[in-house]
Amino acid sequence: MRMALRTIEIMGSPVLREKCAEVDVCDDELRALVRDMLETMYHSSGIGLAAPQVGLTTRVIVVDPRDENEDRRNPIALVNPQVVWFAKELNKAPEGCLSIPGMEDVVQRPASVVVEGLNPDGEEVRIEAEGVLSRVLQHEIDHLDGILFVDLLTPLKRRIFLKKWKKSQAEKKV
Ligand code: ZN
Repeated sequence: MRMALRTIEIMGSPVLREKCAEVDVCDDELRALVRDMLETMYHSSGIGLAAPQVGLTTRVIVVDPRDENEDRRNPIALVNPQVVWFAKELNKAPEGCLSIPGMEDVVQRPASVVVEGLNPDGEEVRIEAEGVLSRVLQHEIDHLDGILFVDLLTPLKRRIFLKKWKKSQAEKKV
């Protein structure tokens, strides 16, 4: 099956700030997008990717929170995913994003969630997630509403983060 790497949008690109539209039909075009997104995610050594990161304002995410030492891929693709339950308990862990390359910061999120959506064949899926899976699902679903992890930092931490980011981007241009 033919697959293609898609170009990843970098923070500053307006598409990353848009609210994405629900998918109406799970057809071959959608499944081709999912395959491309997975290929692009694996190619960039990411553990999650959302459609706006490849320039599309559609509610599709792919994740694979496998261990780095694990060779076996365990991809999950979700269409119109929704968090239907959040744990009250919060935890903190470092997070990165393929759209903010080279940067990471500690983000606080609910420790576990229940997510509902469709698989690429249009069948209903329900995932009870904790640990890394819970975190990556929340991160990717945020992308569908134009939210980046940097938005979840405290104002002070965000200011420092954005300063570092600006600096790293400026250095790249030289
Ligand atoms: Zn991201």
